[in-house]
Amino acid sequence: MTSTERGIAAAEAHSAHNYHPLPVVVATAEGAWMTDVEGRRYLDMLAGYSALNFGHGNRRLLDAARAQLERVTLTSRAFHHDRFADFCTRLAELCGMELVLPMNTGAEAVETAVKTARKWGYEIKGVPDGRAKIIVADNNFHGRTTTIVSFSTDPEARAGFGPYTPGFESVPYGDLAAMEAALDDTTVAVLLEPIQGEAGVLVPPPGYLAGVRELTRGRNVLFIADEIQSGLGRTGRTFACEHEGVVPDMYVLGKALGGGVVPVSAVVSSREVLGVFAPGEHGSTFGGNPLACAVALEVLAMLRTGELQQRATELGEHLHGELGLLVGGGAVDAVRGRGLWAGVDINPSRGTGRDVSERLMERGVLVKDTHGATIRLAPPLVISKEDLDWGLDQLRGVLEG
Ligand code: PLP
Repeated sequence: MTSTERGIAAAEAHSAHNYHPLPVVVATAEGAWMTDVEGRRYLDMLAGYSALNFGHGNRRLLDAARAQLERVTLTSRAFHHDRFADFCTRLAELCGMELVLPMNTGAEAVETAVKTARKWGYEIKGVPDGRAKIIVADNNFHGRTTTIVSFSTDPEARAGFGPYTPGFESVPYGDLAAMEAALDDTTVAVLLEPIQGEAGVLVPPPGYLAGVRELTRGRNVLFIADEIQSGLGRTGRTFACEHEGVVPDMYVLGKALGGGVVPVSAVVSSREVLGVFAPGEHGSTFGGNPLACAVALEVLAMLRTGELQQRATELGEHLHGELGLLVGGGAVDAVRGRGLWAGVDINPSRGTGRDVSERLMERGVLVKDTHGATIRLAPPLVISKEDLDWGLDQLRGVLEG
């Protein structure tokens, strides 16, 4: 038995099978590269579902984490700590908003957004108690908690986990008329991914986000942008909403906010909206802890310069230019995305998304399939153009071979 086989067998024996990982056991990583337990190197073209925008082992993030490890790592919010104010101030600044509510994982931040919107609806908008409705989009992915899967339209994510939380209505993504029809006096929020990641990197039609902004503003409804996967540089802008000049009422952030070092998520909004919380009404033991704040502060410092966003734009144009050439040649049916983020629909004649991912792995490139026929490319934003080209060569090789 190889080290890889041993590692996989042990994991299979003692873990719940809620994932179907590619058969690789990673031991170390740096930049855009990972090395497995056998010493084989792989180009990481997934980047922890966009959590690793700044690459593996990023020096600035590791130094910030190390320094903070020696000082204090956790106080709980029972006490103040000396990194908290800076973190909230800097994050609010980056978002152009006023208040921050930190959590840990993406799903927790989405739950926080749902609670915030409902409370805002009752206390500020004047919706009758217990009637608040939130509109979401078909094929959404916002996480795995019971409330979040309640408004998923994906049977795999939802089936078997009822009873489901009421108070949500799902409408087709990209359809403004359907959104308008769903809005009523009890609607407190519209919750959307500006680009649907898990659904296959679906970019909405031009004007959709701006249209949603106009509709929600007109009906005194909060526009909540889940930028957990799309945000913080991935699409070439700090927020994917910026591509349409849209500023939502609330950003939900996670993944890259912790730089792939620690889980950090947050809801960021106005004083009117996040001001609805009083002490004791919401919280998290680890939310906003000193280690998380220290790492996130470094993430925010890197984003402030705009360099990585620029890089994602330039390399993204290159990536989409190259991928576009594959469409229509028989191997690739469609390519979507923005910046360093692409969903590639594989023609069934070349196998499933999983087949292509496995063949890419054999050639030293790690990607992951989604929804059968699609593979998602989302390399760290620090990837070099040469490495990106090498990865694309491997993809062409797999599709041709
Ligand atoms: N929202 C979006 C848009 C996501 O892509 C994800 C994760 O993929 C989540 C929420 C959930 O984040 P987490 O897995 O950290 O709970």
